Amino acid sequence: MIRIAVISGKGGTGKTMVACALADTNTRKQVLADCDVDAANLELLLSPTRLTTEPFAGLDVARIDPDRCSGCGICVNTCAFGAIKMDNERAEVSLFHCEGCGLCCFVCPEGAAVMEKRVCGEIYTSSTPYGPLVHARLFPGSGTSGLLVHEVKKRALTIDPSAEVLLVDGPPGIGCPLISTISGMDAVLIVTEPSVSALHDCKRLVTVCRRFDLSILLLINRFDLLDEITSEIEAYAEEEGIAIVGKIPFDSAVVRAVRQGIPITRADSPASKAISIVWEEIRSELDMP
Ligand code: SF4
Ligand code: SF4
Repeated sequence: MIRIAVISGKGGTGKTMVACALADTNTRKQVLADCDVDAANLELLLSPTRLTTEPFAGLDVARIDPDRCSGCGICVNTCAFGAIKMDNERAEVSLFHCEGCGLCCFVCPEGAAVMEKRVCGEIYTSSTPYGPLVHARLFPGSGTSGLLVHEVKKRALTIDPSAEVLLVDGPPGIGCPLISTISGMDAVLIVTEPSVSALHDCKRLVTVCRRFDLSILLLINRFDLLDEITSEIEAYAEEEGIAIVGKIPFDSAVVRAVRQGIPITRADSPASKAISIVWEEIRSELDMP
């Protein structure tokens, strides 16, 4: 199975639109995964039917038994994250601040502090007209998105052993969810656009991706909005030896397709024509049969 992640240095470059178009144009048997768990929206464009829902427990968090707590305050002074406060002479943990280090359990003389699992999201499997989709939702305030991405990928890799392609919609940026997404991938497709900030973020992303053993491909979305920066991106790609597999023009049909919840490749428009050949370009660059 060849594993490809569509990623971007910043949000709003059209990454999900591109991932969805690739899902629509790939004729190989595929599994789809939405690893942008902080803002998962691939499902909005793929008309999924939910098959399973399972809770996701991230890192353990501390809980204090008020019946055992003597109110000595040792844990309050020990917690480096300021996650414990005194209330009515009993210690209380703020779940939003607890980082799960377990130190309070270690120092409490009464054995009142214990670590517990905390459900902080859900993992779903769905069927779509394009293949099975594994996606997830992280509850607000939960900070274990890298771990959740790992779980999504794990399920996506085993859901259909006969699949030839794993196509992942990755998160924007270069943080923990991105690292978790691209580890183990064969290739990444970086979606960028002609703006100073997008080019800057694209360069940072390339630097991170270079640390991994994977192929890097580039796609310029809305390339005709600023010729000067598009030329800069092309020059940068050439310098870095990165193949540009697509240049998509600005096209209001993209917005209409997103509003309708369909892949842009289902519309008859300049962007649709440009993006419908990207999958073949990717295949050729990666020497896929
Ligand atoms: S260290 Fe234990 S007994 Fe002391 S305040 Fe914290 S939870 Fe309560
Ligand atoms: S587990 Fe660590 S971070 Fe959480 S409350 Fe205890 S000491 Fe603080």
